[in-house]
Amino acid sequence: MTQIETQGTQQMTDSQAPAVEVRNLAKHYGDFVALQNVNVSIGAGEYFVLLGPSGGGKTTLLRTIGGFQKPTHGEVLLHGRSVGHLPPDKRPTSMVFQAYALFPHMSVEQNVGYGLKVAGLPRAQVAEKVAAALEQVGLTPFAARRPHELSGGQQQRVQLARAIVLDRDILLLDEPLAALDAQLRKDMCLELKHLQEKVGITFIHVTHNQEEAMTVADRIALIANGELVEFGRARDIYRAPEKTFTASFVGENNVLKGRVAEAAGSEIIVDVAGSRLQVDKRGLAVSDGQEVTLSIRSECVALDRVNGAETPADGFSITGAYDESVYLGLTTSHLVHLPDGTEMVSREIADSDERLPEAGSRVRLSWKPSDIRLHVE
Ligand code: ATP
Repeated sequence: MTQIETQGTQQMTDSQAPAVEVRNLAKHYGDFVALQNVNVSIGAGEYFVLLGPSGGGKTTLLRTIGGFQKPTHGEVLLHGRSVGHLPPDKRPTSMVFQAYALFPHMSVEQNVGYGLKVAGLPRAQVAEKVAAALEQVGLTPFAARRPHELSGGQQQRVQLARAIVLDRDILLLDEPLAALDAQLRKDMCLELKHLQEKVGITFIHVTHNQEEAMTVADRIALIANGELVEFGRARDIYRAPEKTFTASFVGENNVLKGRVAEAAGSEIIVDVAGSRLQVDKRGLAVSDGQEVTLSIRSECVALDRVNGAETPADGFSITGAYDESVYLGLTTSHLVHLPDGTEMVSREIADSDERLPEAGSRVRLSWKPSDIRLHVE
């Protein structure tokens, strides 16, 4: 099996159009809805990540863009041109799959040049393109080696070279780093990002790993249960998630359920587990008595360690019972539960001398007014 699906002619037209446009896309497998109502536009030269939990529909979307499967409804446009009728090898895309099954009996150079050779390119041209691709992924000194003489990361780079040598302008990467160990994965993430900047083509990268997504992405789309939940720049998705799902999937957020006590004005009051919290309405429509969700990132929550000497409630803090602290090296996570049983986490830079509260004692968790976020769905 070849890893890279070589994909054909580049007869794409509109240079002003987005590289990829997905309109009202749905994919059903019998009764099962794998994707529904997906709309997304990806700019030329953008590093775009499809992030989400397993089974959410990321690979289905990627494969539909690549032409490996047909949508049930909707359409895919590449550079402004509808490609529903085009098979994978006639689209301006190349695909990098999860596992790297390289041809074991061929050298790195031969593996990379295979697609071009099959396409009938003259030998000299193949050699020239292969040399350029190997240079781009930093594998020039390894050109004569066989795959078994390479590390996992190097094999992965051969795979990338096999894809970029084809000169397609949209690279589809399906969990490209999944087979690598954690450290290599981190290193390769940066390499991928730099490679994309160097070659300047559009990368669409599927992963369920948020750190990987944040490292490489210009923009991230979050996909779950077959729907595109939210998309935006990595820092916006992280710092200002619109949807509760985004808050619970990206970063370590405390998600609190509450009921609106006072909906008037730009700041509203929400009752959460016996405390009255104040939160910016952000122009969202809410009414008294409505159930809403609030989120606060764990690193924005401070733990008041002074037992018994609580500061007065100010709308930006909540009381609970201290459970325990988990030392994580750089940071320590303090676990607290609220009177309604909700678990909260305060993550602080680890301090080896810190005095921790007694288990079960009352503590106060507090945050800056701008760090709490309202979600209405
Ligand atoms: P993962 O991260 O685990 O790869 P994913 O987000 O890429 O997950 P998909 O592979 O797109 O998810 O699958 C979405 C859903 O569609 C899953 O529930 C999967 O079981 C289902 N599915 C995928 N392919 C088929 C198929 N050929 N027939 C039936 N169901 C399928």
